[in-house]
Amino acid sequence: MKVEILTREEIKRAVKCTSLDNIVFDADISVLTSIKTGGKALCCFAADRMEDLKKIIDTCIKNKIKFIVVGDGTNIIFNDEYNDIVIIRLGKDFDFLRFADGDKIIAGAAYNLSKFVNSSAERGYDFSDLSGIPGTIGGSVMGNSGSKNTGICNFIESISYISNNDGIIMEKSSVLKNSDFNYRHFYIPDLAVLTGVVLKTRKSDRNNILIKIKERIKNKKLTQPVNAKSAGCFFRNPIYGSGSAGELIEACGLKGFIYGGSRISSKHANYIENFDNATSKDIFILSKIAKSMVMEKFGIKLEYEVKLIGF
Ligand SMILES: Cc1cc2nc3c(=O)[nH]c(=O)nc-3n(C[C@H](O)[C@H](O)[C@H](O)COP(=O)(O)OP(=O)(O)OC[C@H]3O[C@@H](n4cnc5c(N)ncnc54)[C@H](O)[C@@H]3O)c2cc1C
Repeated sequence: MKVEILTREEIKRAVKCTSLDNIVFDADISVLTSIKTGGKALCCFAADRMEDLKKIIDTCIKNKIKFIVVGDGTNIIFNDEYNDIVIIRLGKDFDFLRFADGDKIIAGAAYNLSKFVNSSAERGYDFSDLSGIPGTIGGSVMGNSGSKNTGICNFIESISYISNNDGIIMEKSSVLKNSDFNYRHFYIPDLAVLTGVVLKTRKSDRNNILIKIKERIKNKKLTQPVNAKSAGCFFRNPIYGSGSAGELIEACGLKGFIYGGSRISSKHANYIENFDNATSKDIFILSKIAKSMVMEKFGIKLEYEVKLIGF
């Protein structure tokens, strides 16, 4: 069956036909991200229930409408234009945390990562390597976020997700394999939306864990611009070669360098801050400057860690 590409108005009509509530049309994107830039999206849908989530995905896939899930928007940058996409945010049914038998912890994709780390610590589960990282469980898993040596996927036993197999939408669960993830990377071919995870770790001393969390957060505040408007570390650290992405950018003399309303942080050179009404274009151009200077000086190609949408 041939599917025509719909016009903007036709897409809106198709979305309205779902009769779903919680849809904002011509949604302002900047409020959905921590860097606070970006234009508009065709609509933003808050999915509180699994059946509503499946309905909107089905509509999008059948009509060839692009969609994207946004968690807390702490690792994503949209362009400044009008984006013909449906933004999906996960609500109530996906915002939960349960401690089960056998040291298993079950979390919804919308659950806040810091709340998860702290609640787990109270029960003697050590996820301190993930402390101080903003965002949701879902966003965190999609980028395997974490610290220098570990990522959240190392703690995950299985995932639940909405699968899209050639247009067939269904709920699925699968055990996570080591080959599904690596440094700041996670990939399941048929995954459309991650809905939940089962995590596992060994129990240890609650007070020690709480001390480790406090130390990590203190250290993060000292070394990273955690209160600035940013999208976290902009580039992945190169796997080979000497130096982290931040060290390489700093060695190019770019700490504090300004382009438009954006700036390379003077605290940590792998962060780009929106310090004065920056546009996404300002930020993108500044990232290109950093990338090309690192290439010129060190012959190293930096790869983006942030998810750039529409660039
Ligand atoms: C101040 C600051 C400090 C940070 N420190 C760290 C750090 O120490 N370590 C680290 O690794 N990261 C860090 N980050 C980056 C960021 O916080 C993490 O990557 C975070 O886990 C992303 O979660 P999120 O909910 O904000 O994801 P979002 O930014 O909303 O989304 C990220 C990606 O995941 C996709 N996505 C989100 N939810 C789902 C879902 N349910 N199903 C399918 N796809 C989904 C989005 O489409 C997007 O591609 C930092 C960011 C900031 C602003």
